[in-house]
Amino acid sequence: MRRRSELENARSDLDRAKSERDQYRESAADAMEALERLGAAFDALPLGVVIVDTDGSETLRNREAARLVDARGTDALAARALADTLLEGTAGPTGRVIELHGPPARTLSLAASPLTSGAGSLGTVAVVQDVTERYRLDAVRRDFVANVSHELRTPIGAIVALADTLASVNAATEPDVYNRLANRVAHEADRAGHLIDDLLDLSRIEGGDLQREEVPVRHLITGSVDRVTASAGARSEDLSIDGDLPNSTLLVDATQIEGALVNLIENAMKYSEPGTPVLVSAQETPDRVQLIVRDRGIGIPPADRDRIFERFYRVDRARSRATGGTGLGLAIVRNVARNHGGDVTVDSREGEGSTFVIHLPVGASDQIAE
Ligand code: ADP
Repeated sequence: MRRRSELENARSDLDRAKSERDQYRESAADAMEALERLGAAFDALPLGVVIVDTDGSETLRNREAARLVDARGTDALAARALADTLLEGTAGPTGRVIELHGPPARTLSLAASPLTSGAGSLGTVAVVQDVTERYRLDAVRRDFVANVSHELRTPIGAIVALADTLASVNAATEPDVYNRLANRVAHEADRAGHLIDDLLDLSRIEGGDLQREEVPVRHLITGSVDRVTASAGARSEDLSIDGDLPNSTLLVDATQIEGALVNLIENAMKYSEPGTPVLVSAQETPDRVQLIVRDRGIGIPPADRDRIFERFYRVDRARSRATGGTGLGLAIVRNVARNHGGDVTVDSREGEGSTFVIHLPVGASDQIAE
């Protein structure tokens, strides 16, 4: 009898043990699954995450951290910066930004802080981010603001100085001096005005807002040539339309495209001698229309050809100033062309002349029509 009850007890102990084992197995499987899910979530993060325990041994390095830090086998700097940041991070939140010279050059931001729970320290966590693009844009913005201030300071400084002198001149006794100074004030004010107009144009065009309408290509060409002819004085005789113009139409912002062409034509005149021709033409292929402005002017050195489309870049600053240039014209042209899904290119020979071409896709009209 006794043996029987002992046996029953043993059996029920065994059953209990089995059920506890099953529960542990289930919890262990749940825990493993949760860990895997966490690992996958960390890997999906667009941030690099590295975790070390209190002994400093690494317990987690997600995919982005591996990509940013390990991929640079030759760049021990990133790995060292990460180790230093993690070490400093044991004491409290810390961070640094490092430049990797590459190639490709990169800027990484590293931040670390202690990992704690109610029970105490769990180690340190570091976050690694590729901030190359953000830093590049910040630098572009800073340069732009510095350039605008510099460009405005010159005419405004001149106006202030001239106005001071003007105040001390007696218009009745020194009319020539008075008029000369007054004209120079007006000239500098014009210059500041041009710059502000170009800046406003550029910011509007960079906004990408287009008022599209179906326009014959020939109207774009004749419209811009007429606009320049009206203000070009004697030089208007050098300006002509070259060859037959296509009969096609484009769905574009006509004001912007004409403005871009006017910019190119005015440049062609500024950077060539009076008496040399400036020719405007248009060509058509099945998928694009090219608007072409050609001059026989000073040309552009190869090293400057890519850079002339940057805001405020000039090959010869003094010449650009002397002709009233703001250094923004070609940046505006490029923005206009790109907003229309096209581009602007230049072909040039020093001392022989330049050809600027605005390429516009014909298909653009279909894309926007819907
Ligand atoms: P700018 O107001 O100085 O003319 P742009 O942005 O229109 O500014 O042009 C940038 C620079 O490109 C000019 O300063 C000039 O050096 C060069 N450039 C532009 N067009 C021509 C051209 N047709 N021939 C020679 N150089 C040119």
